[in-house]
Amino acid sequence: MSRDRVFPVWRGIWASGSSSGGWAEAWERCLRWEPMGPIWLVLCRGGRARLSQVCERGRGAIRLRVRLPPLFHIHQVPKVVQEDGIISGYRHPCSTALDCVLSSFQMNNETMNIWTHFLPTWYFVWRLALLCSSLDFSLDSYTWPLLVYMLLICVYPFTSSCAHTFSAMSTDSYHICFFFDYGALSLYSLGCAISYGHYVMPECWVNSWLHRYFVPVALANSLFCTSLSCYSRFVELQFPQRSKVLRTAAFVVPFIFDTVPLFYRILLCCGGGCAHTEALSSHCYHLFFAFLTCFLFTSHLPERLAPGRFDYFGHSHQLFHVSAVLGTHFQMEGVMADMLSRRTWLTDQGLAPSFLGTIGALLIGLVLNLVIIGVFSVPLLWKRFSVSGQPLACWLQGSRKNE
Ligand SMILES: [Zn+2]
Repeated sequence: MSRDRVFPVWRGIWASGSSSGGWAEAWERCLRWEPMGPIWLVLCRGGRARLSQVCERGRGAIRLRVRLPPLFHIHQVPKVVQEDGIISGYRHPCSTALDCVLSSFQMNNETMNIWTHFLPTWYFVWRLALLCSSLDFSLDSYTWPLLVYMLLICVYPFTSSCAHTFSAMSTDSYHICFFFDYGALSLYSLGCAISYGHYVMPECWVNSWLHRYFVPVALANSLFCTSLSCYSRFVELQFPQRSKVLRTAAFVVPFIFDTVPLFYRILLCCGGGCAHTEALSSHCYHLFFAFLTCFLFTSHLPERLAPGRFDYFGHSHQLFHVSAVLGTHFQMEGVMADMLSRRTWLTDQGLAPSFLGTIGALLIGLVLNLVIIGVFSVPLLWKRFSVSGQPLACWLQGSRKNE
């Protein structure tokens, strides 16, 4: 290579060197300009071969790491995991836990379901962390209903995200993962009732019979919701319509009960019986998204209109997740606005939240919901264990055994 083609600064070094070479010869001994496609690189002698070797190893490593499991068509997976209108993009129904985690970075029909609840989890955790720095959750009992509510709006999207991630390990794990998902949602309904019962209740209903028994009834609703939604999975294969009705009813009943005080308050305001507040606007947005969530869950739109076109992006379950999270965001804003603006009035009514009515109710609800999930999970595990000798044997292993 001619000296004129070397970068000017190097030419200068070259020019300033002595006749014996100096800097320039020292550079030349270990460096060489080599053409690498459209660019020139400076390499040590033998560096080109070494670079090629490194590149080849890198390509091999990348190939090894991105070798994700293949995806399946609807007719290749068990009936229980098939979704209406979703034709392709199913994960292997016997994936390992690692495959499941890796699949969240691979585009399949669960990827967006995972991320649309995983990312909002951290948004709600961040909001809870901000509240921890401004409120005294340990000593101020007035904040306990908000603490319970905030914990549960962090837990339910996280549980859902985990359920969607690990549901591909076997048909049994598919059921059990969604038992936990339903349990977290029903606990969230209890959290809503605890916060509504303490902060959102209309003034004329405060200290009424409904107000006094609001949290115990919500706790019973939560157990009913988990039991019915878990049971609905067992009748899904034989009676898919009945299963859908049962599961929808399981979530609609606690929602209606929790929201009755809010509906009444909004009706009063529509009739001019109260001042329009910022909290009420947030509650109205929440109700809009709650109805949208219910519509998306039951309608299976848009994939029902064009099966196969929304397998990866835009199917109803993803939209259902997004709508639920937006609804929760507005609900959280409404609850916090009511909590701050009604504090003096509620305290004057002698309404100090008790430990049993807030954190105690959450703990009781948590234990009883786990018991219900256990009751529904044990027969599945026991049946599979007695057939295959493995607690979470895979559907494919089972079917291969029968071939
Ligand atoms: Zn989901």
